[in-house]
Amino acid sequence: MLLSDRIQTLSPSLTIAISSLARDLKAQGKDVLSFSAGEPDFGTPQRIKDEAIKAINEGFTQYTAVPGIPELLEAVAAKLKRDNDLEYAPSDIIVSNGAKQSLFNLFQATLNPGDEVIIPAPYWVTYPELVKYAGAIPVIIDTNEINGFKITAEQLKAAITTKTKMLILTSPSNPTGSVYSKEELEALAEVLKETEIIVASDEMYEKLVYGIDFTATAGISEDMYQRTVTINGLSKSVAMTGWRFGYLASPKKELIAAMNKLQSQSTSNINSITQKAAIPALLGEVDDEIEMMREAFEKRAQEAVRLFNEVDGLSVIAPQGAFYLFVNIKDISNDSIEFCKELLQETGVAVVPGIGFGSEGYFRFSFATDITTIREGIRRIEKFVKQKK
Ligand code: PLP
Repeated sequence: MLLSDRIQTLSPSLTIAISSLARDLKAQGKDVLSFSAGEPDFGTPQRIKDEAIKAINEGFTQYTAVPGIPELLEAVAAKLKRDNDLEYAPSDIIVSNGAKQSLFNLFQATLNPGDEVIIPAPYWVTYPELVKYAGAIPVIIDTNEINGFKITAEQLKAAITTKTKMLILTSPSNPTGSVYSKEELEALAEVLKETEIIVASDEMYEKLVYGIDFTATAGISEDMYQRTVTINGLSKSVAMTGWRFGYLASPKKELIAAMNKLQSQSTSNINSITQKAAIPALLGEVDDEIEMMREAFEKRAQEAVRLFNEVDGLSVIAPQGAFYLFVNIKDISNDSIEFCKELLQETGVAVVPGIGFGSEGYFRFSFATDITTIREGIRRIEKFVKQKK
């Protein structure tokens, strides 16, 4: 047998599968509109690019300390203090190749075979795969529009067993755009209080919120601060997906040391140039650009929600954050893969099947694209849905 048992537990990403089908159709000359990507359509701010060029010209091109250079770790700590009022020492932080690697490191460092990890659905596709890769068992809690795609304290309580090791929270959420309020996090914190459960709080879309304040999970209480591993990055908020910059923070020295050990034996430090370039973003020097992008996303969200809700057979709740809509197609189809494939083949519109996020009867529509394309995409979807009805 060529392949390990371990690698065979991993499923390929459905997002990537749809993107590549879209690429094939495009290559065949079809007019494809893609709403499947999970990245901003904006470029990286010039200030960041200049800093990277400066780093190259100054010869900052060698290995660095595994978790990141001291001034970078200080900048992350300063960001967590300024934006979230959280106190972390630079030594509580590890910078990795995107938040994806931060999560990989965390799961590998904490999960044993048989451990259970509670994941609210719809979830970001990567969580259950990386949890399984660590030998642990994803325990899915289903949510829907009624609770704004958020788990309740009762649901959490019912899902906890003696084997529960971790809870993953994503706020704002990919794919639903839901954001947990302070009160909702407090209710979850109350349930966790008597347990040893680690909370992995993925806060990637923190800066992209619409009409609601972002609340950091670790800031809820001292107990939550101790048990939470905060995961964040710059991919989405500063349009830096290709730079590969993510980080995590935890006051647990033993945990940070374990992840440093893993990263030192796998990938070492992230790109030295990206480290330098990230500092101005973390210190708030591109906040104006971030706000410009946030405002653009908010306007697109409003327009897209309005247009989708005019389509007979589709419904969507307004996202409170991120740049996705999770559109309900249950009146039309309960096979989201078939729906999305047909939609792509017949209309050239690429969206991602809900089943990939653990919730059947939906598709994810990314509004990280210009408003004209969004309008045309929804117009084509409407035409397609009319034929199906
Ligand atoms: N977390 C969430 C919720 C995401 O949607 C993504 C990207 O799609 C990531 C983490 C990973 O981001 P990166 O590895 O680019 O930092």
